[in-house]
Amino acid sequence: MSPNTTELGAMNGFLGAHCKITNTLLETSRLRYKAGMPAYNLTTACQAVKAIRNSISWIERHTTAQSVQVTAVRVVRAFERFFDRVARGETPGYPRFKSIKRFTGWGYKQYGDGWSLLQKNSKIKTNGSRAGHSYGAVRLTGIGTVSLRGRTRFEGEPITAEVLHRGGKWYLSVTFEVTPEAVAREGGRASMAFDWGVSTLLTKVVGDPMTGQVEAIDNPCWLKKQLDRIAEIQQAIAALEKRAKAASGKQRGFPVCHQLKNAYRRRRCLHAKIANQRHDFYHQLTAKLVKQYGLIATEELEVSNMARAPRPKEDPGNPGQYLPNGAASKAGLNRSILDAAPAGFVAKLRTKAEEAGSRFQFVPTRELKPTQRCHLCGETTKLELKDRQWKCTCGATHQRDENAARTILRYVFEGAWWKDTTNSGLERPRRPRAARNSIQVGSPIWME
Ligand SMILES: [Zn+2]
Repeated sequence: MSPNTTELGAMNGFLGAHCKITNTLLETSRLRYKAGMPAYNLTTACQAVKAIRNSISWIERHTTAQSVQVTAVRVVRAFERFFDRVARGETPGYPRFKSIKRFTGWGYKQYGDGWSLLQKNSKIKTNGSRAGHSYGAVRLTGIGTVSLRGRTRFEGEPITAEVLHRGGKWYLSVTFEVTPEAVAREGGRASMAFDWGVSTLLTKVVGDPMTGQVEAIDNPCWLKKQLDRIAEIQQAIAALEKRAKAASGKQRGFPVCHQLKNAYRRRRCLHAKIANQRHDFYHQLTAKLVKQYGLIATEELEVSNMARAPRPKEDPGNPGQYLPNGAASKAGLNRSILDAAPAGFVAKLRTKAEEAGSRFQFVPTRELKPTQRCHLCGETTKLELKDRQWKCTCGATHQRDENAARTILRYVFEGAWWKDTTNSGLERPRRPRAARNSIQVGSPIWME
């Protein structure tokens, strides 16, 4: 979004007001809990934000009736996620108070209420003219008509919108309701399974689990390339902060000089740039894959487990002393895992596959153990993270990622074949049934 000065002022006001509402709800949630009252549900939270909005005039000016409700829903969902994780025995962080710097924005839940689009593309429902805006604009109640760059990818009815403030830039994310025909991509026919890795992004096997071709797609490693630059900026920030702390004698709330402010901005921009590059790359790659294959299978990802810091290892002969636990190398690996962002990639791939009417299938990682299971005999072998190549008890030698992809593909065709003693594994695999058409709502588009 490219707001002018007046609009920018109003948008900052909106950001502040929704941030304030979020923090007020977090605080009152805590108080309600202390007082033994039930947690907010959607109804009580919406009533609470309505009361806040009606009683504080600057908040009323910088919100709409709908946008405060969307904020209320977000807080309620954050608590639901929190309690879900507690119930599962995890130790999640309590929903955090948001500083305005970290607050990401607000949303609208119904088109035409607080927001409307003015787009060049006449197939999209628009209100009013777009005079003075070369690409299009969004009209936001209480803010103005803000110019947009970027286009919509679909024809359809806009439903919801979010205004996002990230890395010092403003974005509008719009969800459209679309018909399957409007987004129908040309889905391919071949079957493909892939294993996801850190050094090699994807290792895929196409066609037959036993004889199908193997192809690898490398991880572009944007973050690695930019790591030196991040380190450089980080060092500059550390030095400037140290100087400011020494000069003011304060550890927190020290004065931020012009140089430091600049360095903070450079760091934000670099992180935003990396995120955008990743977003683009994944969009292109997933579109290409969906065009090629009618069935795509992979294992369920458990990124939160993979990216966890390793447990401290106590020295058994020397209590209180700790042995090296590989935390440093795991930290590097974590960074690569988070850099490759598999969950975001798989989510995009899945959406696009559904749009194309293709079948997307997750295989159960815990049951199948695709990395450890030989795709020929079905036996599992315990492997270390570093074992790229391994030998099965049946005598076969496997490349780790390739075997995993073959095991996944075989499971798609034959189920848990290793449990079935009547099946020698030499039969031709059954073909999967035809894909279904299932999509109703389009994925969000991004407009800068
Ligand atoms: Zn084997």
